[in-house]
Amino acid sequence: MKYYIGIDIGGTNLSTGVVDENYEIVGRGKLKTEVGRSYEEILADIIETVRLALADAKLDSEDVRWIGVGCPGFCNPETGTVEYSNNLKWNNVPLAADLEKAFERKVYLDNDANAAAYGEYLAGAAKGAKNAVVITLGTGVGAGIIINGKIFGGSNFAGGEIGHTVIVVDGYECSCGRKGCFEAYCSATGLARMTREAAELHPKSKIKQLVETDGRFSARTAFNAAKLLDETGIEVVERYIKHLACGITNTINVFQPDILCIGGGVCNEGDALLNPLKEQVAKDIFSRGSAKNTEICICKLGNDAGIIGAAMLGKSADSGNILKSVFGAKPAPAPKKPTEKVPENPESAQNKK
Ligand SMILES: [Zn+2]
Repeated sequence: MKYYIGIDIGGTNLSTGVVDENYEIVGRGKLKTEVGRSYEEILADIIETVRLALADAKLDSEDVRWIGVGCPGFCNPETGTVEYSNNLKWNNVPLAADLEKAFERKVYLDNDANAAAYGEYLAGAAKGAKNAVVITLGTGVGAGIIINGKIFGGSNFAGGEIGHTVIVVDGYECSCGRKGCFEAYCSATGLARMTREAAELHPKSKIKQLVETDGRFSARTAFNAAKLLDETGIEVVERYIKHLACGITNTINVFQPDILCIGGGVCNEGDALLNPLKEQVAKDIFSRGSAKNTEICICKLGNDAGIIGAAMLGKSADSGNILKSVFGAKPAPAPKKPTEKVPENPESAQNKK
C-alpha cells in the first residue's frame, strides 16, 4: 500500500490526514489554526499535525510518497510559495520548501478550493468524470475546475474564481471589492443577509421567531421558515435559488463539465435546494437542446475532500510519469530513435488505442 499526506489549512482548523492509494484516510491530526499568529507559529503546528496523523496511522514519514497542502489564497504550485493569503495574512511564504525541510519529502501546494475540488473529483461526487467543477457555498463561494484530470489554475494560478464573477451589475458589495459577485449573493453569508433584510421588511414573518430561538440569522433560517410555509421564507429561498442558478448556468455555459457538484453547509437542505435549482438551470442553459448535459449534484466528502485532494496533488501536478510510478503501471519506454514520438500523457495514449 502507498501512502500520502494531505494538509488542509482552514481558517479554523489545520486538518491533516494520511491517505492511502484507495483515497481512504487512515490517520488524522488536527489543531486550531488560531489566525493572527505568525507564519512560524502556524507552520510549527502544521508540522505537528503531520506528526499526529503519522502516529495515528502508525507510520513514519519515510512510509509516505509525498505531502500535499491546500491553503487559502494565491498559491503558486510551481514555486511552492503562498504568494498572498488574506485569511492568514501571509505574504510570499515558502510553505512547500519549509515542509520539505521538515520531512524530506516532496511537497505539492495548491489553493484550498482547488484541492477540495480535486478530492471530490478523485474520490467523491465527481468520481469518474473527465471534466468537473466543484462549487462550495460557505462563508464565501469557493470553486475548483478540473479539466482532463488536471486542476485548472490559469496562467498565474489564480484562475477558477467563479465566486467573483458578477451576477448582478451594481449589486451588493463583495468581499473582493467588486459589486454584484456570485459570492455576495450565494455564499451562506449572502443568504443570511438576504434573510435578515427580508425579515426587516416583513416583521410579521416567522423568520423573527426562528431567529429568536437560534440566536442569529443563518443560511438555514429562510429554509426553515419556508418549511413552515412562511411566505417571506419561501420568497427568500426562491430568490436565493434564482441567483444560484444564474451563477451555475454561467459556469456550465463556459465549461460544460460532465459534473458540477455543489458543497458547503447550504447543501444540507438536500432536495429542497437541488430540485428547484436543477429545474431552473435546465430552463436557462445554452445547451438545453443537447443530448448530453452537465449533471448537477451535491458533494459527498465534506471536509475530507480538502485532505484527500491535497494528498493527491502530486497526481495533478504530473499526471505523466508520477502517475505511472505511483499507480503501478510500467514506466514509459525510452525513445529508441531521436525521431520517435513518446506519448506525453500515458493515459490519453492508452485511451486512443
Ligand atoms: Zn467578489
